[in-house]
Amino acid sequence: MKVYLDNNATTIVDPHVFAEMEPFFVQRYGNPNSLHLFASETHKPLKTAMEKIYAGINAPKEDSVVITSCATESNNWVFKSIFFEYILTGRKNHIIVSEVEHPSVIANAKFLEAHGCKVTYLPINSEGMIEAHTVRDFITPKTALVSIMWANNETGAIFPVQEIGNICAEAGVLFHTDAVQAVGKTPIDVQSFNVDYLTMSAHKFHGPKGVGALYIRKGKELTPLMHGGAQMGGLRSGTLNVAGIVGMGKAMEQAVDALDYEMHEIRELRDAFEDQLLEIEDTFVVTPREKRTPNTILISFRGIEGEAMLWDLNRAGIAASTGSACASEDLESNPVMEAIGAEADLAHTAIRFSLSRYTTKEELDYAIEIVREAVKRLRSISSSYAYTPKGHVSGLDSH
Ligand code: PLP
Repeated sequence: MKVYLDNNATTIVDPHVFAEMEPFFVQRYGNPNSLHLFASETHKPLKTAMEKIYAGINAPKEDSVVITSCATESNNWVFKSIFFEYILTGRKNHIIVSEVEHPSVIANAKFLEAHGCKVTYLPINSEGMIEAHTVRDFITPKTALVSIMWANNETGAIFPVQEIGNICAEAGVLFHTDAVQAVGKTPIDVQSFNVDYLTMSAHKFHGPKGVGALYIRKGKELTPLMHGGAQMGGLRSGTLNVAGIVGMGKAMEQAVDALDYEMHEIRELRDAFEDQLLEIEDTFVVTPREKRTPNTILISFRGIEGEAMLWDLNRAGIAASTGSACASEDLESNPVMEAIGAEADLAHTAIRFSLSRYTTKEELDYAIEIVREAVKRLRSISSSYAYTPKGHVSGLDSH
């Protein structure tokens, strides 16, 4: 049996999404910016897709949703624009990000830092959560941007984005949120949240890879990252990825339709699976369930190196992860586990299981069997496990 439990890395393209995209490769391949009938065949589907993306985050018409090539590009765009508008000009010299942002944010913060910007890396608490008031504590008149993700890719922790948005609005500071892991898992409404910029990526919600978007509130326009033929209102040049945009639109529509299912049925499946995992001795989960997206579990198995566990799971056909896919080739400890200050031996033992609306109970029944076997085998050959004192672990709930 093959079981895919790495949906925070990427998701299967929904067959309905694929079906909507297909005509835009061989049949309707016109460049939407050309002036002939081949081009015009793409106009209506593009408009419909964009409307679905706007609707998915409740963006009003006057705001912009700009299609990019991925969330990494959207995140880069925000930070590079801040660099040009504020840091380079000396108007402001400070930004705030959380210490558990995705590498596509952290690497940009480091880039700004290398160019003279001060960066505050907001700490998370022992539950892996950001406390909104800490944002207020660090804002200064020189703060140009606050960037805090909506949901964390490792733990699934949903950060208090609404409160943070209000704090930023009161202080007159721009607020960006990377909502890549939130779309389709928790309701997103840019009209009731004071968000200026919001990053999305289609492949995380059953759309195609290579297409993302950046929501931009009216009046908060950014310096373009891609100059060229002035597509997307001049904000992001490059021939439009018609099939990708059509796919993202359909995927967004379906994500909204399936939100209830994700929030209830998938949550129930996740919780039942997690209960079974926690029955295994010496296992630890950082963030309480009710504070997480419904599909994610980050769990540590004391005495078992994460990579060794992945190897055993992989041999049995189960895909999971030890950290962000981008970092999974280096044997690094989990960044969130490090951020909460977990002991080194635990930081290396975290495994992330992430479900999707395609995950079934049968798959999880199989997975739990395999996990139990793997734990037994790996602990029996672990040099550290037998000698590790059991009991309370600082910063972690023990089960
Ligand atoms: N932001 C978060 C929170 C992510 O989880 C990811 C992907 O893992 C990204 C950004 C990057 O997404 P993309 O692959 O679209 O560049």
